[in-house]
Amino acid sequence: MTRRISVLGGTGSIGDSTFDLIRRAAPGAFKVVAITAYSNVDKLAALAIEFGAEYAAIGDPAYEGDLRDALSAHDIKAGGGRNAVIEAGQRQADFTMAAIIGAAGLEPTLAAVDQGRTVGLANKECLVCAGDLFMQRVKTAGTRLLPIDSEHNAIFQVLEHDKPEGVRRLILTASGGPFRETPFDELTKMTPAQALNHPVWSMGAKISIDSSTLINKGLELIEAAYLFDRPECEIDVVVHPQSIIHSMVEYIDGSVLAQMGAPDMRTPIGYALSWPKRMETPVKQLNLVDIGALSFFKPDMIRFPGLDLARTALKQGGAAPNVFNAANEVAVAAFLNGRIGFMDIPALVEKTLETQEKYTSFGQALMSVDAVLACDKAARRTADELILTLKL
Ligand code: NAD
Ligand code: MG
Repeated sequence: MTRRISVLGGTGSIGDSTFDLIRRAAPGAFKVVAITAYSNVDKLAALAIEFGAEYAAIGDPAYEGDLRDALSAHDIKAGGGRNAVIEAGQRQADFTMAAIIGAAGLEPTLAAVDQGRTVGLANKECLVCAGDLFMQRVKTAGTRLLPIDSEHNAIFQVLEHDKPEGVRRLILTASGGPFRETPFDELTKMTPAQALNHPVWSMGAKISIDSSTLINKGLELIEAAYLFDRPECEIDVVVHPQSIIHSMVEYIDGSVLAQMGAPDMRTPIGYALSWPKRMETPVKQLNLVDIGALSFFKPDMIRFPGLDLARTALKQGGAAPNVFNAANEVAVAAFLNGRIGFMDIPALVEKTLETQEKYTSFGQALMSVDAVLACDKAARRTADELILTLKL
């Protein structure tokens, strides 16, 4: 049976892997409904034409005309601007891949969630900035949420979903990023090019920076708490540089179940695309003899304070994860633009959280899109001001 699928954020790294699998699937296995991008018109138009999409939406309205021109000879509807991207999420699809980066993905992803079908969630920031609201909307619509993030996909695969009382803790693995062994004194000097050079995974720029600060693991800690309904104290993080074990679930009888595989996002993406069945992917077969040894370390909280900041934000709950995410998005953009240094990233997140805590009641859940976006906007303003005044 043909699965109708939409890809929000189709021109990014997750989009590339998703379309790679669709290209390799049996003819007629998938029908592409909608694809979105922010500014890469050429790539978006090419994908829409190649896959015969029904709708293509470009987030930056400045490119709407270019998109229309590129698609004029084809029977593909084109749209531009934020509402067009949301409309893409609203279009009837059996499966929507939510792969926009950052809180910008919240509204289109919620539009897909509200359809009550299946959503593959790669866009972790939208869960971090609006976890309470997001999970309520998933429940109300009866949506099947399939995690794409490799760690959460691993947990999803080994979790006894119907017996939550048997679970003692979730163990997220982290590669440790490119600076796992960089001395503290040198970290301040790390450049965007060095931070983008991830040792194991090939990903978009923002998540690569997040991996280098370990803030990605902080976002994933919050993501796991919402996805699997577990408190902060039941989620551990262990550094595992080979990235072969993608995460684990420990049960009360002492059993620990792990999902393993070569580090390639096409495994979790393929898992979600074909769920509840499995599809063949071109992912390299795991050869444990070649790998020889797997190693594990405690995360270094002195050199990577971002992970602890995420823990605190998760414990505080309510608006705190939203502020954590917004401040980090501003910090990563500023670091990539050369406006702040590497260690300023966690410092800016911490200062923004401290400042916003004075104005926002962190304990209160944000239960409307307006409340989420207002909190996000205020936190971004504060983070921007802190950069300008260099009060880091
Ligand atoms: P990317 O930067 O490569 O792609 C992002 C996509 O979102 C692009 O299509 C871009 O056009 C679109 N986009 C960006 N800003 C937008 C905006 N304001 N409005 C609408 N669309 C916008 O990112 P990625 O690495 O593919 O990551 C996507 C999501 O998946 C992120 O949340 C990331 O944390 C998560 N994720 C990625 C990987 C990975 O291997 N890349 C692994 C796990 C989770
Ligand atoms: Mg991950």
